[in-house]
Amino acid sequence: MPDAQVSESLSRARRRLAAALERAQRPDDDAQLLAVSKTKPAGAIREAYHAGQRDFGENYLQEALDKQAELADLDAIVWHFIGPLQSNKTRAVAEHFTWVHSVDRLKVARRLSEQRPADHGPLNVCLQVNVSGESSKSGVAPEELESLALAVADLPNLTLRGLMAIPAPSDDLEAQRRPLAHLRRLRDTLNARHPSLALDTLSMGMSDDLEAAVLEGATLVRLGTAIFGARAPHP
Ligand SMILES: *Cc1c(COP(=O)(O)O)cnc(C)c1O
Repeated sequence: MPDAQVSESLSRARRRLAAALERAQRPDDDAQLLAVSKTKPAGAIREAYHAGQRDFGENYLQEALDKQAELADLDAIVWHFIGPLQSNKTRAVAEHFTWVHSVDRLKVARRLSEQRPADHGPLNVCLQVNVSGESSKSGVAPEELESLALAVADLPNLTLRGLMAIPAPSDDLEAQRRPLAHLRRLRDTLNARHPSLALDTLSMGMSDDLEAAVLEGATLVRLGTAIFGARAPHP
């Protein structure tokens, strides 16, 4: 997509989010847009930034670091790491991101906390949960979520903000809602059992299930295609 179109599709995405919030009878500032820029050039991010977007999600570490260097002049840009995270990549993520959505094991969380530079403030973390129970390798199993959440919440340089999921795709609104509702219940149960966790974030909803996610309480929707257009496969 030519860069000039990015601001247009960003406006369309904002209207779509606003309509979804209205339909869900939620306040219009109750969910934020995370622009997922993986595989897209720095110029497209710059265009979205100039159209007022501040939060960007990236999946591939080296690609993200290259683009961050190119965009170092943009004040107050907020980088979210949303891709699978191996232990050997935690240092760079701890140093170069404000959020990580894809923590699904304690080893990775511990390393992120140990490697977070002291002058950066705590790293915001969501735990990725495998809610659709299908073949996906990523995400903590719902039965193991509570113990992981309590351990992560104890780490000094992380702030546990909430839960994230990537359900199996479906074209049907009701089928889309089920795993998203599950994630919401898991969050609500954790907050009820452990009020000090105070989890305020549900990172869910992508270009094809934004409406379902907003109906189920999403607070951070991760839109890639809807803002930046279709992606070529990652090499
Ligand atoms: C790629 C990606 C997205 C964006 O997906 P779209 O369908 O293009 O909106 C959201 N979340 C994660 C974790 C992703 O990897």
